[in-house]
Amino acid sequence: QSLTDDVDPGAATMPLPQSDERRWSDTSAYARKKILQSWIQLPNGNWELGKILSTSGEESVVSLPEGKVMKVISETLVPANPDILDGVDDLMQLSYLNEPSVLYNLNYRYNQDMIYTKAGPVLVAVNPFKEVPLYGNRYIEAYRKKSNDSPHVYAIADTAIREMIRDEVNQSIIISGESGAGKTETAKIAMQYLAALGGGSGIEYEILKTNPILEAFGNAKTLRNDNSSRFGKLIEIHFSESGKISGAQVQTCKCKQSHCFTVVQCAEGERSYHIFYQLCAGASSSLRGMVKEAKSDKHLQYKYLGQSNCYSINGVDDAERFHAVKEALDIVHVSKEDQESVFAMLAAVLWLGNVSFIIIDNENHVEPVADESLSTVAKLIGCNINELKLSLSKRNMRVGKDTIVQKLTLPQAIDARDALAKSIFSCLFDWLVEQINKSLAVGKRRTGRSISILDIYGFESFDKNSFEQFCINYANERLQQHFNRHLFKLEQEEYIQDGIDWTRVDFEDNQDCLSLFEKKPLGLLSLLDEESTFPNGTDLTLANKLKQHLHSNSCFRGDREKLFTVVHYAGEVTYETTGFLEKNRDLLHLDSIQLLSSCSCHLPQAFASSMLIQSEKPVVGPLYKAGGADSQRLSVATKFKGQLFQLMQRLGNTTPHFIRCIKPNNVQSPGLYEQGLVLQQLRCCGVLEVVRISRSGFPTRVSHQKFARRYGFLLVENIADKDPLSVSVAILHQFNILPEMYQVGYTKLFFRTGQIGVLEDTRNRTL
Ligand code: ADP
Ligand code: MG
Repeated sequence: QSLTDDVDPGAATMPLPQSDERRWSDTSAYARKKILQSWIQLPNGNWELGKILSTSGEESVVSLPEGKVMKVISETLVPANPDILDGVDDLMQLSYLNEPSVLYNLNYRYNQDMIYTKAGPVLVAVNPFKEVPLYGNRYIEAYRKKSNDSPHVYAIADTAIREMIRDEVNQSIIISGESGAGKTETAKIAMQYLAALGGGSGIEYEILKTNPILEAFGNAKTLRNDNSSRFGKLIEIHFSESGKISGAQVQTCKCKQSHCFTVVQCAEGERSYHIFYQLCAGASSSLRGMVKEAKSDKHLQYKYLGQSNCYSINGVDDAERFHAVKEALDIVHVSKEDQESVFAMLAAVLWLGNVSFIIIDNENHVEPVADESLSTVAKLIGCNINELKLSLSKRNMRVGKDTIVQKLTLPQAIDARDALAKSIFSCLFDWLVEQINKSLAVGKRRTGRSISILDIYGFESFDKNSFEQFCINYANERLQQHFNRHLFKLEQEEYIQDGIDWTRVDFEDNQDCLSLFEKKPLGLLSLLDEESTFPNGTDLTLANKLKQHLHSNSCFRGDREKLFTVVHYAGEVTYETTGFLEKNRDLLHLDSIQLLSSCSCHLPQAFASSMLIQSEKPVVGPLYKAGGADSQRLSVATKFKGQLFQLMQRLGNTTPHFIRCIKPNNVQSPGLYEQGLVLQQLRCCGVLEVVRISRSGFPTRVSHQKFARRYGFLLVENIADKDPLSVSVAILHQFNILPEMYQVGYTKLFFRTGQIGVLEDTRNRTL
């Protein structure tokens, strides 16, 4: 049975309407006669496949699976694809590209553990929430040999390697999706493939071992995901001329607040970073005296870990994981001595949480109780107990040229204590990344060839959204633009530049929302920074300021009191300014730095100097300019923006490959596919638009020169001395590439998908 017998012959090549869905009314008369099946939207919003029994006038009679017969308005019917297209592995192949058909196709595949589907150039991965038999050496080998061509992360990684070598252009694999959608797992799967193909020197083991380390220190159990990453990560894997891995570099992008907040506070049912529980479960004998076991026995609890009533994760053995982390640290060359210091720092953080305070005067000033907690902290970080006590009961403040000493009240003292714990943990994380990078450093023979894998937290929208979500969503807005620009804008511009006849397709651009954040001086970030420098600024004055200056912006809406709403590409999010200024100011606790630099252990000393360096780092480049007199102290948001731009800059020079992870349900359960949830994610990331554009366009393009150079030798007729354009055209003719399958531009040839394959195969056979 041939496909074209069954479907509208015009459907695949006909320019598609720009509306979101092809409805019944858009369908040609020919197709109407042929369509037997159609999507019917039920009152609950889900789509169901129905058979059209009859159509008369405005109404149609359809039968639904359970034998139910319904009368519906013909207008609302959405054409379904013929059965033969069930479960196609590229959405581009669908004759009818509408939302229910896409949902159905993904679901059909998902039910058979085919979690990967192509959407034109993008790979869609639906989280299986169970082990699926798709990985390991046998599969790696199959993709390497190209004996398996079903969509897979391995196939994406394979393309990246090949294109890096062939085009001599750096590549990136950009993985996005909501929390729990499978980004981190997908990144690991991609790394696995790169390590298998580019391995040999042994450095690939080191690279793979960075995962358990970074996850232990950077991931935590949340209600949505047992292994939620609280930082963004870009790992750049370098290759030698011969395609072997020569080193790697990790760059993190974390909103300090979001990353460290988890250390001192976590909600019911969630956990702090894995490493704390691992340490408590598996500490070595030399540390055991200083680390209590985190059993649910109330006396033995650390306050930081005890507040959420959750100590373990189903199916995870923390003690075992602890040994794996230690092993991984060995492999990335962190000495045993340094490892002990790392664990001592972690223990110090936990003990800090147990430090309590007593009131010492009638003005409610407090000082820490000199108990086991305080003395253990002092012992662990190697400081004088009195200095520790002082730093937790007084604050030195610089006012102009003078320093004044302020005694602390209970909430202030608790803040100071938590700030110290957060600083230690944050510095520890950065220090570890630095050690990893030293160990993975690319030697002198850097070829400049690399593949970067980006795993960054997805868009977040909760009932209550604060500074952390504000930063994360801003980052996602930037990434989305990168995606849009790459897939849509660049594509169109290139066609136009090269004189290709191509009907413009409109696409969503989120520049307006980005401008809302970045515009100077009247953008969200600038206004936030400005208010943060005012000593009298409060959450309310900030909210009012935003409303005053931004009320006319179409992406902004001022709500009551401290609330404001941003219209993000993925939907509206209402933020509450409570804590914004405090979190953004990142008060540099001079007392903490002083305390840490006075310690006898080398890690706290290193932390103190890195904190000082960070705070005094000269402001470089136009992107980082905070402006004004206060420019050498960067706010948290500005620093975050700096990290983000650095990341985007790296990605800017690479050929990107996109993987969109989809979470089929919110309960981490296998086999459960919620249409509404999936649809919302597909819409957010523009998957349908991508398919639409790719299908109507010419996604593969090669310059005349490159094409002639690459395939010219296959020509029967010797015209190699002719100009590249003539050679190219001769090749096209010799291989009978159909005229509708390519276009010749001023500088490049443009092909529809799948055309270059024949040429490549012949070339490979000939070579
Ligand atoms: P994200 O990084 O997007 O927040 P994760 O990658 O941590 O999400 O995935 C969340 C959970 O989903 C994982 O802990 C794992 O249980 C499951 N998961 C994700 N991808 C896969 C996969 N390919 N195979 C099996 N389980 C997966
Ligand atoms: Mg993750």
